[in-house]
Amino acid sequence: MSAVAFLNIAMHGHINPTLPVVAELVRRGHAVTYHTTPAYAEEIAATGARVLPYSGDDQPLSGTPVTLMEQLARTAVRVLPAVLTDLRGARPDLIVHDSLCPWGPVAARELDVPAASSFTTFAFNRHLPSPTHGSRELLAAAAALPRHAGGYLRSRWELRRRYDTRGLPLIDLANIRQPLNLVYTSRAFHPVADSFDQSYRFVGPSIGARPADSSFPVDRLRDPVLYASMGTLFAAGPQLLRSFADALAPLGGTVIVSTGHTDPAALGPLPANVMALRSVPQLEVLARAALFITHGGVNSVNEALYAGVPMLVVPQGADQPLVASRVVELDAGLSIRTEDINVEVVRALAQRLLDEPRFRAGASTLQVAQRQAGGYPRAADELERYVQQTGRVTQPGSAELPPQG
Ligand code: UDP
Repeated sequence: MSAVAFLNIAMHGHINPTLPVVAELVRRGHAVTYHTTPAYAEEIAATGARVLPYSGDDQPLSGTPVTLMEQLARTAVRVLPAVLTDLRGARPDLIVHDSLCPWGPVAARELDVPAASSFTTFAFNRHLPSPTHGSRELLAAAAALPRHAGGYLRSRWELRRRYDTRGLPLIDLANIRQPLNLVYTSRAFHPVADSFDQSYRFVGPSIGARPADSSFPVDRLRDPVLYASMGTLFAAGPQLLRSFADALAPLGGTVIVSTGHTDPAALGPLPANVMALRSVPQLEVLARAALFITHGGVNSVNEALYAGVPMLVVPQGADQPLVASRVVELDAGLSIRTEDINVEVVRALAQRLLDEPRFRAGASTLQVAQRQAGGYPRAADELERYVQQTGRVTQPGSAELPPQG
């Protein structure tokens, strides 16, 4: 039995894939702690992990690469003292941190504990640069946001003054790697997968049981089920969501629109076969769906491919344009820019996705790859093997891990 400490940022998309891995580690008898904010405490506790709360308020994470970097570095300064105290008590054999969680590598160095990184986005390297990689654009963005750039530098200085920060990239905070890097998609879906060394393990979507949502009316669904969601972060306005509802209503048995930050009432009176809810049990819905309109969040797309559902991707920002091009390139769907959206165009694209067999075939091919990648049991295997090997594995890139299966 090992003690494993998970450190994560407060974002659904970064937490969700870790939950089945944690539950599996607990099931195998490991003692797992998970640092988080109150909003996620309940679902993390349901995995059997011991929840350790971050000190202070929730960590708001949003915006441009420069503001994100500042928020992350500032949060690291704030949470590290208590995190280190907690972990000195928990005495982990392994730290698993998100690839955007700068206090992960610092805690690992301070406690001299091996660490693995968890990539719920795509993984990045020089062939596929991360949003925070050092570039002329990032420099220009920093110059345009001097207060945030200054805040970043101050926090970095503070981290360096107080801690061993050698495991932390100076700039590229969205791409924190370790000797073991878990990537929650398949090699087949990941761009330039062959350009990543063997410290990257493409374990596929980590999809496990989620707490049942008894308020969701499964028995009212009629095929074909058509589903639209812009995820949990981006505030897709009522107009955009309404155009999805109007576009899909004549094509669907039941149309489900997850409205996220938007009040469903703001969509106005809807066609009788449309259901608009702030949040839906997405895995359950995708298992029934014939089509998914998505913003292209990596988790949503992974989940859709796991269910073999063709997509219309409407990227809203971050890495979503990249995800959208991969979906199109592999024939698993189509993509459209938000500014090109109107009811007729969306309906025509949705009709093509339903009628042209190549999209279902593309999604089915990826479905096989996503399922064969191994998912959360493989992620747990990799972590267990890594704990056993860590005496020999110390430097990022020099991991003595066996070749990938
Ligand atoms: N999700 C959900 N119900 C909803 C909308 C989203 O369960 O109504 C989940 C979805 O299954 C996925 C996550 O929230 O695991 C969204 O992550 P993603 O990376 O797709 O987008 P983000 O919200 O981070 O932009």
